[in-house]
Amino acid sequence: MTGTASGISNLLSEELEYAAPEIVVNQALQKDWKDECRRSLESPETFWAEQANQFVWTRPWTKVMEWDGVHHQWFVGGKTNITVNALDRHANSSRRNRAAYIWLGEDGSERIVTYGQLYRMVCRFANGLKSLGVKKGDRVVIYMPLVIEGVVAMLACARLGAIHSVVYAGLGHTALRDRIVDARAKIVIAGDVGFRRGKTIALKPIVDEALDGVDFVERVVVFSRRAAELTDREVDFNDLMKFPAECPAEEMDSEDPLFLLYTSGSTGKPKGVVHVHGGFMVGTTYHLASFFDVGEQDVFWCTSDIGWVVGHSYIVYAPLCAGVTTLFREGAVDYPNPGTAWEIVERYAVSKMFTAPTALRMFMRYGESYPAQYDLTSLRVIACAGEPLNPEAWRWAQTHLAGDGKWGYVIDNWWQTELGGPAIGTPPTYPMRPGKCGLAVPGAEADVVDEQGNAVPAGVGGRLVLKRPFPNMLRTIWGNAARYEGDWQQIPGCYVTGDVAVKDKDGYITVLGRADDVLNVAGHRIGTAEVESALVSHPAVAEAAAIGVPDPLKGETIKCFVQTRAGHTPSDALAAALIEHVRRELGPIATPSAIEFVTALPKTRSGKILRRFLKAKELGQDAGDVSTMEG
Ligand code: AMP
Repeated sequence: MTGTASGISNLLSEELEYAAPEIVVNQALQKDWKDECRRSLESPETFWAEQANQFVWTRPWTKVMEWDGVHHQWFVGGKTNITVNALDRHANSSRRNRAAYIWLGEDGSERIVTYGQLYRMVCRFANGLKSLGVKKGDRVVIYMPLVIEGVVAMLACARLGAIHSVVYAGLGHTALRDRIVDARAKIVIAGDVGFRRGKTIALKPIVDEALDGVDFVERVVVFSRRAAELTDREVDFNDLMKFPAECPAEEMDSEDPLFLLYTSGSTGKPKGVVHVHGGFMVGTTYHLASFFDVGEQDVFWCTSDIGWVVGHSYIVYAPLCAGVTTLFREGAVDYPNPGTAWEIVERYAVSKMFTAPTALRMFMRYGESYPAQYDLTSLRVIACAGEPLNPEAWRWAQTHLAGDGKWGYVIDNWWQTELGGPAIGTPPTYPMRPGKCGLAVPGAEADVVDEQGNAVPAGVGGRLVLKRPFPNMLRTIWGNAARYEGDWQQIPGCYVTGDVAVKDKDGYITVLGRADDVLNVAGHRIGTAEVESALVSHPAVAEAAAIGVPDPLKGETIKCFVQTRAGHTPSDALAAALIEHVRRELGPIATPSAIEFVTALPKTRSGKILRRFLKAKELGQDAGDVSTMEG
């Protein structure tokens, strides 16, 4: 896998650096990032114990960590329940009447829920679930629209020690069924409808179809916004909200599972990633303050969904543990109009935002006239994760959303469902190098290595690995320990992430894409991200996907799929100009052999480009598991 990007003079390796804006640096919660990184690696036990000490434990741990090279445990022997830290601590303090959530609907509706109210809602619903026989260790699948009740369902499961598995309520019945079966869920909690782009989306028929013939699911709790008729197996969500508003939290071992989350499946069959109460709580909350710079003073808008890991970590658990006010919204971020997001930022004085490159590219496609109509000066940090953040998308967002640094900063961070929180990124106090994700965060020891595990020199591509575990990292794959163990055993001493990357001399890491997607042209390995970012740097291009097509002469040639920005029309002349543009940016070996214009790129529901699907289609093959595909 070595050799990626080597020898290619390109826009990604330009030594471009953009200093962190003064206003962001001055206000940042964590200023001594370098020291934080050093301490976390030199004495991890002291470092993580310091973080864990900020939480309520009903029994203290006896050992900070144990690691045998594959399996790891944190805060060993410690007892807690994440909901005690997410709810009780605040509900029993002066934070009781502070807003935990500002929830918005596409139709303009608004709901504000305080910590005190949330505590009571969760207790009521937990008692309701208890009445259905839910207990510690049971699996509960949640298929809910992005509403407060979805969060309540998650927290109520955690309170009882049941293991929730949220399935994004945009996935179809096969995906839902596969997950229900794999987790062997006792209960399913589902909404009857969701609202998106002004339309009502029926969820209940999908649940019914997914459950057809599945006899081990005992009850289905229906959150009904359209007065759905219930069968004998079904229970009304609201009936479970009538139970008493006090429910003691089940005492959980630090290592007891908190949730299963099936990965988005951009590379194959989804797997149930297992996260636990103690480590997930400590790690994700730590990164919220230290990396994302989010604290009590903020209004934090995370545009993800509870169906994804970002939602678990940064809509639900970490912000609640930190006592933060979080905004989230059901529906599309560009509906009812392309300026909607910026209207919300202005109205609620959103100060920190977490979004994805796919959203930034969409805003860029609409153009800067929309954000220009609103006061965005409250926005200090816009953190972006999920896919490579193309330099041009970064520049556009930094200029038009962050006032070119006058008030804010757009930063990149890399992680996976498996990791629960960021492992690489540019902290708000560090210079951003567009196209480069950033540096390893405290606790993470990231490196780029060859197949034997030797670090490759700066500027040379290789496998992106992590050389030690951290508290918020997965413990296993549900029902498939071998698959988990395999990720630690392919390369000695390394957790293999499945991505390819290149590091510069200062440790900044560029993620080039998934190892499976990497292009191989005449013996040169080229990251999909490089070609796509080169295309996106052209003013006519909004989004692009690059795939390798087998070629008898070159091994592979590069085919690109391109969606144009508003005001640009596809034509042969534009295709030729784009090929020439990539050639100029990346050099002759990375020149695409074909450009196909598309009106939309196939994506996972979480917004990742599905190159595997494009490639299978191009080659007339079966695309494999595409159950998480959008549309
Ligand atoms: P998932 O677990 O489905 O969220 O997918 C994780 C994968 O998304 C990673 O392995 C990367 O391939 C990709 N990814 C996430 N964040 C970034 C980022 N900031 N830059 C590049 N790729 C990313």
